[in-house]
Amino acid sequence: MTATASRVLVLNSGSSSVKYQLLDMADGTRLAAGLVERIGEATSRLTHTPLATGGEVREAEGPIADHESALKAVADELSADGLGLDSPELAAIGHRVVHGGLKFTVPTVIDDAVLKEIERLVPVAPLHNPANITGIRTAQQLRPDLPQVAVFDTAFHTTMPEYAARYAIDVETADAHRIRRYGFHGTSHAYVSRKTAALLGKDPSEVNVIVLHLGNGASASAVAGGRCVETSMGLTPLEGLVMGTRSGDIDPAVTFHLKRVAGMSADETDELLNKKSGLVGLCGDNDMREIRRRIDAGDARAQLAFDIYIHRLKKYIGAYCAVLGRVDAVAFTAGVGENAAPVREAAIAGLEEMGLAVDASLNAVRSGEPRLISPEYARVAVAVVPTDEELEIAQQTYALVSA
Ligand code: ADP
Repeated sequence: MTATASRVLVLNSGSSSVKYQLLDMADGTRLAAGLVERIGEATSRLTHTPLATGGEVREAEGPIADHESALKAVADELSADGLGLDSPELAAIGHRVVHGGLKFTVPTVIDDAVLKEIERLVPVAPLHNPANITGIRTAQQLRPDLPQVAVFDTAFHTTMPEYAARYAIDVETADAHRIRRYGFHGTSHAYVSRKTAALLGKDPSEVNVIVLHLGNGASASAVAGGRCVETSMGLTPLEGLVMGTRSGDIDPAVTFHLKRVAGMSADETDELLNKKSGLVGLCGDNDMREIRRRIDAGDARAQLAFDIYIHRLKKYIGAYCAVLGRVDAVAFTAGVGENAAPVREAAIAGLEEMGLAVDASLNAVRSGEPRLISPEYARVAVAVVPTDEELEIAQQTYALVSA
């Protein structure tokens, strides 16, 4: 890294997509952002926003065969803005890695041993880690001299006490197959819990926060004094809240019941619970905007889906109040949490006895800034705190390589 190198490229490699942002950590500015979608299909699409130049968003469609071609296309777009990957100002590449197991509790500079360990975790993250590994390998080929850092979605949750992380199943079987609750969205939960403390004018060590990350995937966490003590996702991101397409909590017997009565295979049940359940399974839509529109038009199925979603959310808020004992704030974040005022209102409604309330006019304010939506009299602050996983990954990456 040269003395002037202060840029970090953040890569989030999914199975058929790559999301990226280039940030300058000298002043926290975002220089470029973009997305390559449908990698491997004939209709791949690259969308690039040249934030540094303030130029027009550039879109290109056409076949992008694999992650290597995708990253090369991204590199070309960045070069066109004068921000190429060969720039001496690039300090590091930060990779979002979904599963870090128990070993990776902090961001880690990637070497062969680290890459091997991420590979070893593929059986517990078959959908995510292989794509993350491909992204890392490709980035290493493009800039072999540059530090590559893995920032793990599970890391923030590794502080969970054993009694929260273990399932109550046979210990030998669990340990043999690394079955335990890992939790996900950790980068977001870490960032939002810290920001919430700042909003209250406190140090993270002084506050207990319940974070509700409600995107298409959704998870809750209980954060005591800056450390995660409980989270709703488990071995995989399937457990917990009702999500866009995932069921969240379900009696595990449903899976073997389906095998016995409907002959459904493990893969078919996996698909049912991960892709055809949650809001989409309940009412055919997973976008909260569309669900609200249908409710306003009197659609009973959309209303029931919404009610099931809210009921589950309330159960988790109640449970995490009990886990934490004292709660200073409940923070809503991600696509639904940041934008859907009716979800926030309904999730907190009726919880006045627990010190929780939402002020209707504050809740109606639209803003990209962290803000309080609880009335002054409420014992517990309710907040909307926009998440920024890319910034968190860039900060953690830069802190590691500039240390
Ligand atoms: P993910 O990162 O999990 O894909 P996001 O955090 O971007 O998801 O959240 C996407 C979801 O946010 C959408 O599916 C939609 O339900 C919801 N959403 C986005 N904008 C709004 C809005 N203005 N009002 C209500 N819901 C919204």
